[in-house]
Amino acid sequence: MSRREETVEIPQGLPEFEPGWVWLAGAGPGDPGLLTLHALNGLRQADVVVYDALVDQSILAWIKPGAIADFAGKRGGKPSPKQRDITLKLIEYAKEGKKVLRLKGGDPFVFGRGGEEALGLVGAGIPFRIIPGITAGIGGLAYAGIPATHRDTNQAVTFLTGHDQTGLMPGAINWQGVAQGSQVIVMYMAMKHLASISEKLIEGGRSPAEPVGIVCNASLANQDVLETTLGTCAADAAAAGIEPPAVVCVGEVVRLRSGLDWMGAMSGRILRSDPLGLSSSRNVDAG
Ligand code: SAH
Repeated sequence: MSRREETVEIPQGLPEFEPGWVWLAGAGPGDPGLLTLHALNGLRQADVVVYDALVDQSILAWIKPGAIADFAGKRGGKPSPKQRDITLKLIEYAKEGKKVLRLKGGDPFVFGRGGEEALGLVGAGIPFRIIPGITAGIGGLAYAGIPATHRDTNQAVTFLTGHDQTGLMPGAINWQGVAQGSQVIVMYMAMKHLASISEKLIEGGRSPAEPVGIVCNASLANQDVLETTLGTCAADAAAAGIEPPAVVCVGEVVRLRSGLDWMGAMSGRILRSDPLGLSSSRNVDAG
């Protein structure tokens, strides 16, 4: 290969990938356009890319010719590799002097075990860079036309996981506290226990009529959105055949989708400019 072909152009202002380093990057929810420039810069320079199941194939197409693409996720029903083994693999590649890109779905520090892997690198004395990504609980909702916050609906939002390390309902969540304290609740990995979770939230004081949006395969060509209610979401999701990966959003923000479903608009949906029905009472803020 000639020298010219080997050289990867690094856009101005972006770092050069040093051999022996690990870049721990988020790939966003799926659409390659949601990669950050840092992640793309890493993809184009890396000698090896260790990626998870939720990283879309279209993103892997950016890997430089001849580089190794090493899958670290769950394959065909087999158990996922142990977290320790993945960290050891990163350390090994780095010690070989490779430029190692660890690519994770969404943001590596949001329910992504990025912290665990980075601490393993610290322990082994491997230099690393963290590249945040667009998390499914924000960017995925935006692709469904659901804002995480909106002045007329919420001043707080809670992100939670619907199952713990063992696959059970997370034991450390105070469901009543969440139900009463957070106007909008965004849930990751919540499909398995959706029936119990929605029950807990209703017991904690939320209305069964409260709107719920479930966004499946957010930002991908097969994105699917279900608008339902807290009381019926588990049954509706099962009836609609909604499968993970999906983010579940509970709260009044879901109503905004009838005005903000920009993807639906591209295929002909007529959007409402006043989805919350506030136009008559609205106090227009001049500032
Ligand atoms: N670090 C990731 C989350 C990993 S946990 C992030 O920041 O987004 C895996 C969970 O993320 C899935 O069960 C699902 O709840 C959510 N998720 C990830 N990608 C998604 C997508 N494209 N569409 C919907 N949900 C997604």
